[in-house]
Amino acid sequence: MELERESPLVKDEIDLLLRLSDIHISLEKALAAVADARAQNPGPDASRRMGPKLFDELAETVERLRRDAASTSQHLSSATHRSYEGLRRQARLPLVAFVRDGLCGECHVRLPSALAGAVMSGPELRSCPFCGRLLWSNVPVSSSLR
Ligand SMILES: [Zn+2]
Repeated sequence: MELERESPLVKDEIDLLLRLSDIHISLEKALAAVADARAQNPGPDASRRMGPKLFDELAETVERLRRDAASTSQHLSSATHRSYEGLRRQARLPLVAFVRDGLCGECHVRLPSALAGAVMSGPELRSCPFCGRLLWSNVPVSSSLR
């Protein structure tokens, strides 16, 4: 039986954005691990001294996450993709903020009440005017749907 969904597009996009958010958080961690390893082992032969295996594994992880992000983001609508690109460039993670008691769940600034209301009921994705994250109501989509 088909689940009744009022705005499948928004929910699907939020699912994609939550996945992308996880991918980018993992990517940031992998890149930080690479930077850490380099900082502790300066010099051009760092990868030899540290063991090429570690570097290879990190490089592979970074590549895989980048591919995941690229293929996942292809499914976003063009408007959402633009917001995603902006947030990604600024490494503003997580990408999605849940609205709680009228506040943005990430930057904790009170949203205009019309905007907070639109997020709860609206058929389109809205961004926080303060941090730019895409807003969603306070129940995580993945657990509320199934
Ligand atoms: Zn915000």
